[in-house]
Formats: sequence, C-alpha cells, structure tokens
Amino acid sequence: MSLIVAKSLSKTYATDSVAVKALQEVNFDIEVGAFLAFVGPSGSGKTTLLNLIGCLDKPTSGSLQVAGVDVLKLGRRQAAEFRGQNVGFIFQSFNLIAVLTAFENVEYPLVMVQELRPAERRDRVLKALKAVGMLEQKNQMPEQLSGGQKQRVAIARALVTQPKLVLADEPTANLDHETAYMILRLMKQMRDNFGITFIFSTHDTRIIGEAEIVCTLEDGKLLRCEAGHG
Ligand code: ADP
Ligand code: MG
Repeated sequence: MSLIVAKSLSKTYATDSVAVKALQEVNFDIEVGAFLAFVGPSGSGKTTLLNLIGCLDKPTSGSLQVAGVDVLKLGRRQAAEFRGQNVGFIFQSFNLIAVLTAFENVEYPLVMVQELRPAERRDRVLKALKAVGMLEQKNQMPEQLSGGQKQRVAIARALVTQPKLVLADEPTANLDHETAYMILRLMKQMRDNFGITFIFSTHDTRIIGEAEIVCTLEDGKLLRCEAGHG
C-alpha cells in the first residue's frame, strides 16, 4: 500500500536575484512501513523534499499525496492539523526544549491533544521513553544528556503522537559513527515494532547502508531509488 505518492513534484525558491530550482519533476511512490533514505550532497534538495512531505511547505507544481490526502489542497491550519495527526519530526540538532526535562519534552506534542486524560498522557510518554531506552533519564534536562541520548528523546517525542510517518532530516549529522549507527538501528526497531514508516535524509556514507531503500538526489533531480543493504 502506498503511503506517499509524488508526481512531477517541483519546488522553486524565488529569491531576489535568482530562482533556485530546488526540486525538479520528482516522482516516487513510498510504501507503508518503508525504511527509506534520501541521499545526496549538500544542496541537492533533501530538506526541501522532506519539508514538502511533512506539509511544512508547498510545492511549486506537481502533485503529492500523503496517507491518502492531497496535501496541496490543505490550508495552513489543515496542514498543521494533518502534521499533528500523521507526522513526527526528528532534527539534526535534536531541537529539545532546554528548560524541559526529557519527560516533558516527550510530553510536549501531547499537551494540545485535548481528548487525552493526564493519566493516559503520562502512560504514553513513559511508553515512548521506554521504547527508546530512556526511562531512567526521564527527569534529566537536555544539557545533562549526550548527543545520542538527546536524539533518543527526540525519537520518543516523534513517536508519542503515534504518527503514520516519521521524517528525520540528517538525524545523525551531529553524532559520532557508533552513535549514528545505534540511532539508525533504533529507528528501524521502531519501524518494526510499531509499523511506522521512517524517511530520513543523509549524506553520511557510513549509515546509508542501513536504509532498506536508498533514493539519490542530485541538483534537485531524483536519479534513482534502489534497494539498500539494511
Ligand atoms: P539539502 O537539504 O540537500 O542540503 P536543500 O533542500 O536545503 O538541500 O536546498 C536545495 C537548494 O535550494 C539549494 O540550492 C539551496 O540553496 C536552495 N534553498 C533551500 N532553501 C531555500 C530558501 N528558503 N530560499 C532560497 N533557496 C533555498
Ligand atoms: Mg538539508
């Protein structure tokens, strides 16, 4: 079953001087449960593409369906709602809130979910922290955590809303090789255990092999998608 279908997807940034063609006529079809990497050098369009899939930005032309929804038709508020219900995000620089504990960081995306009672909310947060092996550190502040631990908390935060899809933009760029590898293994385990589709970007050749599908971008063009070694 397809989760994401892109047809002739293009994005041009209009700057003062020039128009930057960040994505050009990109086509792909990503299945539910995929563990897929978009790879390519800096400037090849990875972040632009993940932003479109995550409904953070709109394409210039083409079509994009995510979880059966034509995301081009969503207004700003609808897009925000769609993200809240369907998409979890993981960032290169972890983006934890410095004044909140690990527990509170993971709880944060649930605070707005009104139908959840406090006890259920707590339960979900603890479950997510347990899944990433961070239960013991739940009361620690981000500054007390290593890079790998921060990214584990960020993964728990992405999972806690029970999204269909997690998008991770260069999630291992600030981690050493061994930690990067562990984070990739953890993401794959979350895919296996919860059936959540994971799409990440990287230009790190050391972890590209962990992806099950590798899609290569160059100058905004999707050159190919092929089976990885993961
Ligand atoms: P990557 O994530 O692979 O490094 P990006 O998607 O960030 O690539 O960028 C693709 C191209 O689009 C680059 O040439 C970049 O300079 C340009 N670009 C990205 N974001 C913007 C923006 N907001 N305004 C103008 N140009 C942009
Ligand atoms: Mg980028």
